[in-house]
Order: sequence, then C-alpha cells, then structure tokens
Amino acid sequence: MRIKFWGVRGSTPTPQAENLRYGGNTSCVEVRLGQSLFIFDCGTGLRTLGQHLRQEFNGSAMCAHVFVSHFHWDHIQGIPFFGPFYDKPENRFLFHSSSRTRSLKRVMEEQMAVPYFPVNTTEMKAGRNFYDLEPGRIDLDGISVEAMWLNHPQGCMGFRLETKEGIFVYATDNEPGDVAFDKNVRKLAAGADVLVYDAQYLPEEYEARKRGWGHSHWREGVNIAMESGAKELVLYHHDPDHDDACIDRTVSEARNYYARVRAAAEGMEIEI
Ligand SMILES: [Zn+2]
Ligand SMILES: [Zn+2]
Repeated sequence: MRIKFWGVRGSTPTPQAENLRYGGNTSCVEVRLGQSLFIFDCGTGLRTLGQHLRQEFNGSAMCAHVFVSHFHWDHIQGIPFFGPFYDKPENRFLFHSSSRTRSLKRVMEEQMAVPYFPVNTTEMKAGRNFYDLEPGRIDLDGISVEAMWLNHPQGCMGFRLETKEGIFVYATDNEPGDVAFDKNVRKLAAGADVLVYDAQYLPEEYEARKRGWGHSHWREGVNIAMESGAKELVLYHHDPDHDDACIDRTVSEARNYYARVRAAAEGMEIEI
C-alpha cells in the first residue's frame, strides 16, 4: 500500500512562502493498492494529482474510487480543475460520499453553475458514478472500506481502508469532546498502520476560541493514536495560519508524548 499526500492544508489554500515546505494545497490523499487507485478528498491538491495521473497513464484509461468526506470548500475545490474528468469516457470515477445533506452529483453541478464557473459538468467526458455511503463496511476490488461519522458541522465521514498489507485510516475534520464520536474515531483508528488525523489547531487555540468549529489538535491526535493502538500518527489539515516553523514545533512537541508522529506534507509518501 502506497500513500501520497497531494494537499494537506485545511480551510483554504495558502500559497505563501512560509507555508510551502508542508504545502499550501487543501485536502487530497492518494492511496495505491496493486492496480487499484483510491483518492480521499478533492481539495486543491487534486489538480496536481490529475497532472501526475495524466502523465503516468499517458493516454490509457484510468479508474479510481474517490471518497469525499464532506462538502466544505477545502474538500471539493479541486474538482473543477482535475484534468482526467474532462479527458474521455474511458476514464472512470466511482464517487463515494454521504448524500445526507446533498448528493455529490448535485454539489458538483452547483459548484460549477452560473455565475461561479465558466463551464459546467457536461464538459466532463469521463464516466462518473455516484454511490451513497452509509456508515459501515463496503468491499471494493476485494478491499474493505469502513466509513464512520465524525463530529463536524454538517457532518464528515472518516474512512478505514483495510487489506492484508495493512490499515490506512483517514479521519479529518473532527472535533473532540463528544462521547459517541470520540468512541467512533478510536474504533475507526484501532490498530491502524497509518492514522491521518485532523490537527488544525494548537490545543491552546482550540481552548481559547475555536470550540464548536469542528476541528481537533495534535494532543487529541496523540490520545487517539495511543488509545487505539495506531502505529503511526500523521497530523493533517494544517491551519492556514500555521507556517512551517509552527508545524515543526507542533511535531517536536507531539513527539514528547508519542514517538511515531509526523506532519503531512505535500508530496510525502508512506509505504505500508
Ligand atoms: Zn476541512
Ligand atoms: Zn469541514
């Protein structure tokens, strides 16, 4: 299993020099398992993943399962800029998301509607199938994917991808402090080889003024990793106002509590 980070920022892209070592693009992670391609979230990092896939497939058809955790801007903004959606009908994308608030198909149509965008989704030639995701487990290409609700305004789904090679957990946009959701996220993360977790705020920022905004911090990430037996914690969804130096400090502080912590950075790869 190979994991690659294409966008690691929360809320809004931050293309400014002091943020570029970790990266300015919003949420997007690619996971490869043999011939299968999985994409988690479609923030602005999706655009550069599209460039890379076009190069790699070099005209051949591609197929991917695309999981969208929820529809806040930082998780969908890359959709209109993903080249392979426009290329040809042989490209196939299978979208998985909850339609509890809206279907993803409608979200895509609305985000590209007049007066927000110059072309609409009819320009997308690729095959697009939309699947409604409920909490629970599904089987895709022999790979088990479990979805669970996290604690976030309008909801967000966390995902656990499990194969013989290992367990990858993608749990972003989650606020601690609700007993049921706190339990959910620990269950999702149980024994994970890699846990990608929302660390938007510093603990002190969260306490002072960010309660109820739907996000977490590194201290809770460490708690989850330790209590769930996750082997490696990857801090993710960095706050737009946290520059590289701030994220460096966060990682070294977190390592005082848990040795296997790192911060997600654009272009970073992890092999399980
Ligand atoms: Zn987000
Ligand atoms: Zn969100």
